[in-house]
Amino acid sequence: MNLDPRTLLFSLILTYALTVLSLLVAALGGSGGRKRDGMGKWAAAMFLETLTWTLIAARGGIPDVFSIIVANGLKATSHALILAAIYEFQQRRAPHWQYYLAPIALSLVMAAILVDDIGGRFIWGGLIFGFQMVLIGHALLSDQKTRAGRAWRLLFGGVAMIVLVLGLRAAVALSGHSEFAQPQNSSTLHPVQIISFIAIMATALLGSIGFVLMIKERTDREIMHMAMTDSLTQVPNRRALMAYAEHAMARRNGSPLALLMIDVDHFKLINDTHGHLIGDEVLRKVATRLARRLRGHDLLGRYGGEEFCVISPDTDTKGALTLAESLRETIASTPFATENGGLSITISIGISHCPSNVIRELIEVLAESDSALYTAKQTGRNKVVGFGVETA
Ligand code: GH3
Ligand code: MG
Ligand code: MG
Repeated sequence: MNLDPRTLLFSLILTYALTVLSLLVAALGGSGGRKRDGMGKWAAAMFLETLTWTLIAARGGIPDVFSIIVANGLKATSHALILAAIYEFQQRRAPHWQYYLAPIALSLVMAAILVDDIGGRFIWGGLIFGFQMVLIGHALLSDQKTRAGRAWRLLFGGVAMIVLVLGLRAAVALSGHSEFAQPQNSSTLHPVQIISFIAIMATALLGSIGFVLMIKERTDREIMHMAMTDSLTQVPNRRALMAYAEHAMARRNGSPLALLMIDVDHFKLINDTHGHLIGDEVLRKVATRLARRLRGHDLLGRYGGEEFCVISPDTDTKGALTLAESLRETIASTPFATENGGLSITISIGISHCPSNVIRELIEVLAESDSALYTAKQTGRNKVVGFGVETA
């Protein structure tokens, strides 16, 4: 295959230009105002790459100051913007301005000094741009919060590929074979040039798609969290609770499971006496106190209103009664501090149970715990009743 250097340069510029266009559409198209997610900076970086490669393509036809010195400065600026975009996305404090400006200044100076020495520019370019890529790689690696998902790998892979290409070009230049590097003057391409073109084009796409996907993955996670969390108490909501219960029941694998239905006693009185804001505060604190008392695989969720539910896998009747009693006690033992002073709160709990090796429907288990809770309310409140279990 005989690849024409000018055609390759043209397709590279076109790839970057179309990437910028897609990013701008994505960045401006979202609803809910401008977000600081790094997309704008990333689009600006890709725009500078487009300019860089346009200047490089015009080499020979325009003064070297543009096609070499300005082009190198723009490339370094584009890398600095990528770094800034990643820090903005991660919502972390960006590194000192020197890390941005020093490589840009150095690349301008070195390009000016080495304007007639393409081999020297490749070696210095390898060092300066390589340093910027290391900063970008470090930014990606060092943030635990965003270091997850496939998109991250795509982006990191793109950075690694650029480092390899920079290393390859510097190595070839060091070995004294840099005459290959003037694609616009030659009619055939050196293999290193072909590899460079492919890698640069691939990283333009992989990097940008990776970055956009990373934003999308995080938004998805945030929406999922919102859809599954009760906004008042920050514990799982009814949807999440039922999903977890179904899941836990389906994979019980012969082990028991308990379900606790919890209801705050005379809660309406708290609202009526102290107002709904204090009522809300009490609900939040009840949820926090209950959650603190649970074991690792127990799940507390808000079933609705002032009712909570605990799914407790691997728990037999005796264990469930002990757990429920400790929850009842932790609420009743200490008044809740509110703006209106300490409020004594009690809860009633109804327990239902899936014994080992018995397959049951969730709806049935819920109905039983509800019935046990009703009994607890009827027989004095501030107490625990197991369905079908006699309690004191
Ligand atoms: P019982 O001991 O029989 O459970 O009596 P109760 O007063 O707790 O039960 P009832 O069902 O009569 O009242 C529950 C109250 O909970 C009524 C409702 O306004 C209040 N409530 C439900 N959700 C919220 C909420 O998110 N915030 C506040 N402040 N109150 C809520
Ligand atoms: Mg209720
Ligand atoms: Mg109640």
